[in-house]
Amino acid sequence: MTTTIAPSPDSVRLWIGGEPVPGALEPIPVYNPSTDEVITHVANADVQQGLRAVDAAANALSSWKATPPRERAEVLRRCFEEMTRRADEIAELIATENGKTLADARSETTYAAEFFRWYSEEAVRAIGQLSVSPSGSNRILAHYAPIGVAVLVTPWNFPAAMATRKIAPALAAGCTVVLKPATETPLTAYLIAECCRDAGVPEGVVNVLTTKQSGPVVSAMLHDDRVRALSFTGSTEVGRTLLHEAADTVLKTSMELGGNAPFLVFDDADLDSAVDGLMIAKMRNGGQACTAANRIYAHRSIADELGRRLAERMGALATGPGADPSSGCGPLINQAAVDKVNELVTEAVGDGARVLLGAVAPAGKGCFYPPTVLADVPSRSRIVREEIFGPVASIIAFDTETEAIDAANDTVLGLSAYIYTEDLRRGLAIAEKLESGMIAINQGLLSDPAAPFGGVKQSGLGREGSHDGMLEFMETKYIATKW
Ligand code: NAD
Repeated sequence: MTTTIAPSPDSVRLWIGGEPVPGALEPIPVYNPSTDEVITHVANADVQQGLRAVDAAANALSSWKATPPRERAEVLRRCFEEMTRRADEIAELIATENGKTLADARSETTYAAEFFRWYSEEAVRAIGQLSVSPSGSNRILAHYAPIGVAVLVTPWNFPAAMATRKIAPALAAGCTVVLKPATETPLTAYLIAECCRDAGVPEGVVNVLTTKQSGPVVSAMLHDDRVRALSFTGSTEVGRTLLHEAADTVLKTSMELGGNAPFLVFDDADLDSAVDGLMIAKMRNGGQACTAANRIYAHRSIADELGRRLAERMGALATGPGADPSSGCGPLINQAAVDKVNELVTEAVGDGARVLLGAVAPAGKGCFYPPTVLADVPSRSRIVREEIFGPVASIIAFDTETEAIDAANDTVLGLSAYIYTEDLRRGLAIAEKLESGMIAINQGLLSDPAAPFGGVKQSGLGREGSHDGMLEFMETKYIATKW
C-alpha cells in the first residue's frame, strides 16, 4: 500500500479496480485559480475506460454486498480516521486546486470525513419491517437491499464533501461505485480514493475516473445495465440532461442541483447575528455554494443598517490566494466564473442597484472578484434570478411579511432558505410557507451529515446525509409469506 494515487509531480492516473491506470486521452491540466498556474495533470479517460471502471465495480459488488454490515461499518470508520489523520494535507490540496481559503478547506475536510463516521454508524441500521397483512392471512416482510453499482458525479465547489456524501452512504448500503469528479478539482477525489484504499476498502469498490468527455463517458456508464443508480450533484441544467439519460435504463436517481437561496431578515431580527449568519451563508467558499444566500430580503426599516454592517464586515476580508492563511476570500474557480459575476453585477448596477462595496474585478493573476455589496437591487434584475456563485451580496428591501414570502418563493429552485427573526413562532410559521428543502432559522449554516440535505422544485430529487442518504442506494424488497 505504498503507491501514491494522489498528486504526484507528473500525471495522476485513473483509479480502477484498485490500480492506477493511465488515461487513454491527452492528460487534463489542473489549475491553481489563485495563480493561474498548472499544478499537475490528471488522466483523461475515454468511453472504454468508463466501462472498464463499471466492470471493476460490478466485479467487486457481490463480495462487498455480502460483507457483513458490521465489517463494512468498520472499513468506513477507518476511512474517517484516515481522512482525519491526513486532514491538513487534504485541506491544503482543496485550497490549492479549488482556491477556497484554508479555513473553509479545513471545515470542508472535517465535514467530508464526518460522512464516513456517520455512515459507519448507519451501515448496521438498514432496518426493515414486518407486519401482518390487513386480512390477517399472511405476513408482509420488507427489507432494504443494496441497489448495485452506482455512478457518482460531483462538482468542484466542495471537492471532498460532495464525494464522501455519496461514497460513504453507497458503501454503507453495500453498493460499489464509480466516481467522476469535476475536472477543475480532481486531485482531492484521488486523495480520498487513496484514503479509502489505505483504510481497507477492497479493490474495485471505489473507482475514480476523470475525463474531459463527461457527456459520452457518463452516458456510456449509465447505459450499462449493470449500473443501477446515479447520484449527481451539480447544476440544474446538467441534472436535467442526466435525468433524460437515466430514463433509458430506469435508474434510481438522486439529484442535488442548483439553488437560489433567499435570506430573510425581519424587523425584529438581531442584526449582529444576521450579519454573522450572512458572513457564512454568503461568504463561505467565496459565495460558491449551492446553499449560498443569493437574495437578501431585508425589512425596509433595517435594510440600510444591515447593508452598512455587512459592507463593513465583508470589506474587512483580505482577498488573496486560498492557501495563504491570511486570506479571508479566495479566488473564484476560473476566469469564466469571474466574467459571469462581473456581468451580473454590471447589469444589476445598470438596473439601478447601489454599490456599497467592491464591484470592480482586479487586474493581474488569479481569478479574483472582490467582496461586493449591492443595495436596492431591483427584483427583475438577473442577479436576483440566477445563482451568483460569487462573493456578491444583493440586498432588496421589503415592507410586509407576505411580500417577503412571495418574493422568496418566486423561483423554480428550492434548495435552501434562511430566516432571521427573534420570534421563533413567527420564524417557524414562515418556514412552513417557504418552498425550500432546507430552512435555517437564525443560523447561517445548514450542512450536517446527520441532516437530510436536498431541494424541492428544480433543486433536486432525493436526500443526502442522514438515514435517508443511505436509502438512496437501497431498494425495498417485499417478501409475502404465510406461517
Ligand atoms: P456542473 O453541472 O457543470 O458539473 C457538475 C459535474 O457534472 C461535473 O463533474 C461535470 O464534469 C459533470 N458534467 C457536466 N456536464 C456533464 C454531462 N453532460 N454529462 C455528465 N456529467 C457532466 O456543475 P458545477 O459547475 O461543477 O457546480 C456548480 C453547480 O453545482 C451549481 O449549480 C451548484 O448550485 C450545484 N451544487 C449543488 C449542490 C447540492 O447539494 N444541491 C452542491 C454543490 C453544488
